[in-house]
Amino acid sequence: MLLKDNLTQAQSGQKITATGYAVAHKDDSFKPFSFTRHALGEGDILIEILYAGICHSDIHSARSEWHEGIYPMVPGHEIAGRVVAVGKNVEKFQVGDYAGVGCMVNSCGECEACKRSQEQFCQSGMVLTYDCLDRFHDNAPTYGGYSNNIVVSEKFAVCVPKDAPLEKVAPLLCAGITTYSPLKFSGVKSGDRVAVAGFGGLGLMAMKYALHLGAEVSIFARDERKRQEALRLGAKALYSSPSACKEKFDFIISTIPTAYDVNAYIELLRYGGEMAIVGLPPAEVKASIDVTRLLFSAGKKVYGSLIGGMKETQEMLDFSLKHRIYPETEIIRVGDINTAYENLTQGKANFRYVIDMSSLEG
Ligand code: NDP
Repeated sequence: MLLKDNLTQAQSGQKITATGYAVAHKDDSFKPFSFTRHALGEGDILIEILYAGICHSDIHSARSEWHEGIYPMVPGHEIAGRVVAVGKNVEKFQVGDYAGVGCMVNSCGECEACKRSQEQFCQSGMVLTYDCLDRFHDNAPTYGGYSNNIVVSEKFAVCVPKDAPLEKVAPLLCAGITTYSPLKFSGVKSGDRVAVAGFGGLGLMAMKYALHLGAEVSIFARDERKRQEALRLGAKALYSSPSACKEKFDFIISTIPTAYDVNAYIELLRYGGEMAIVGLPPAEVKASIDVTRLLFSAGKKVYGSLIGGMKETQEMLDFSLKHRIYPETEIIRVGDINTAYENLTQGKANFRYVIDMSSLEG
């Protein structure tokens, strides 16, 4: 789809045509897909997508692992690109600016959670970037970032400085905020003993933030290649499983996307320690907490954490750019998405794949 067509559509209040890569059902492979997005509203921006990260949540969703997905599905919620049109009431962005979009594109804006900029907990439900019906736009399905453009309220886009490495910015919009937020919530500080369980896209960011805060970081990782990378990046200790660990931790973050023994990690917390759970296994396998073991392991706090609000997402981005805390990325073309999914599922991936959306045209 030509950008000049999109500009005409934006100016004349028409729906915006888009192209991307979609799956038609949970067992499908990704194929080119054309669709439309809602028209540019007065408070909206139109972004030409330049990079889109692949998060494990994309895989869970595309394969209907959490619930039956909405198909055809264009995943992608780690989006970085260039603003090419703005609605007449837009204040934060001008044409030519860079912008980022994460997991959500709207919320009610009026409930207590929204007023606190915790839009992910909107009492009427946030509108997810994809695999969601958009109640603000005729209940049309939302389509994500494996595509050439996106229209979004400026309230759900973050400002990205012009000199930022855009391919590194994209994964920060989910992997970054999802790990930054609980580390901040738990007040992780210099000298704390921190453990990261599940060392993929999110786990790596958790490690980098914790190291930056001055914590001693231990990693639970199964893959030898990633274990070596953890040591190179500054991990203090490596463990293959909780049963192999005799250490106690002030803070543990679990990013594990499959079933696992949650209590075994809780038991590794020191008295008063905290554990944040961010990994979200498929509905069929679930990871549950045995309350009996929990009670006998008392004096600790365990909580779930869901991305972060828009204000905190901007804060995370500014913080990450200021301190040059970036994901480890491998740039791929749109035609490589299917292989990337296989590699991520089989543990062969190098942390974060990021799709160069200019490859849509080639
Ligand atoms: P990745 O696939 O990049 O990383 C997951 C890592 O977990 C891999 O390194 C994998 O190891 C490891 N792992 C898998 N099973 C186990 C296990 N039993 N024990 C220890 N490690 C294990 O995924 P992401 O980092 O992108 O996402 C992680 C999870 O977080 C997903 O469930 C995702 O949906 C969820 N998520 C949650 C969010 C939230 O708001 N709470 C936001 C974004 C994502 P190996 O390499 O050996 O296979």
